Amino acid sequence: MRDPACEEITREHPCYNKAAARWFGRVHLPVAPDCNIKCRYCTRLYDCANENRPGVTSRLMTPGEALEYLKRVVERDGRIRVVGVAGPGEPLANKATIYTLQLVHHRFPELIKCISTNGLLLAEKLPELQEAGVRAVTVTVNAVSPVVGSRIYDYVSYRGQVYKGTAGAELLWRAQHAGIRLVRELGMVVKVNSVLIPGVNDDHLEEVARAVKAAGAHVMNIIPLIPQGKFAGLLPPPPERVNLLRQKLSPIIEQMTHCRRCRADAVGMLS
Ligand code: SF4
Ligand code: SF4
Repeated sequence: MRDPACEEITREHPCYNKAAARWFGRVHLPVAPDCNIKCRYCTRLYDCANENRPGVTSRLMTPGEALEYLKRVVERDGRIRVVGVAGPGEPLANKATIYTLQLVHHRFPELIKCISTNGLLLAEKLPELQEAGVRAVTVTVNAVSPVVGSRIYDYVSYRGQVYKGTAGAELLWRAQHAGIRLVRELGMVVKVNSVLIPGVNDDHLEEVARAVKAAGAHVMNIIPLIPQGKFAGLLPPPPERVNLLRQKLSPIIEQMTHCRRCRADAVGMLS
């Protein structure tokens, strides 16, 4: 990553830098239960499957509880460098997210603040996020084609309207694209997560890689589908398939290979 503003952040961010993952840790604050879209691989019983490992539901915290919890964690583990909100739903669909990050930034200005989002509200929330000290953003982009996206999302709910099919997918990618560009313009780092869904978007992820790179993303994290929800009948992609795709796409955009699909209340080292 040769952008000086970003190098500073990625030096100590374990998710953006495999070497840093050996020395520095992160903590997720589970303050965001609601979501504004419906991915077909999501059951909503578990953490947001875009960033977190489904199977165990995170305990929800209020912003005040999250701050107290963070104080205890930092006191116990001096290696914590990053504090993020990644669910259990969509962080930006919850007022508690920005309030929590403000509290955290006020108390721990030296920690890197991070969020993971589906991107629908990213561009409009960025000024508040920036003010709350956020410097690293992960956006989940599973499709840039409305037709492919319409097979992945049941609906997208935006400003009181529900959009389905290609209209919803198109709206989502437009918002994600605008958000990624703006994040980059503001000098933050951007990671894109893409869930690899066999038979649905596997042949499309090269187009996704090119589009997100052109928008300004620094790194891409291909996440193999964990079949559940409406995609419960699909088979997960074999690890060799995931590795091959990462190799194929690495000349287009740097690939993350050490993702652990952390829970929305993950804490400590990635490794
Ligand atoms: Fe940020 Fe995602 Fe890493 Fe958590 S797992 S610290 S939200 S990039
Ligand atoms: Fe589920 Fe996350 Fe998709 Fe929302 S964005 S539907 S919580 S996987």
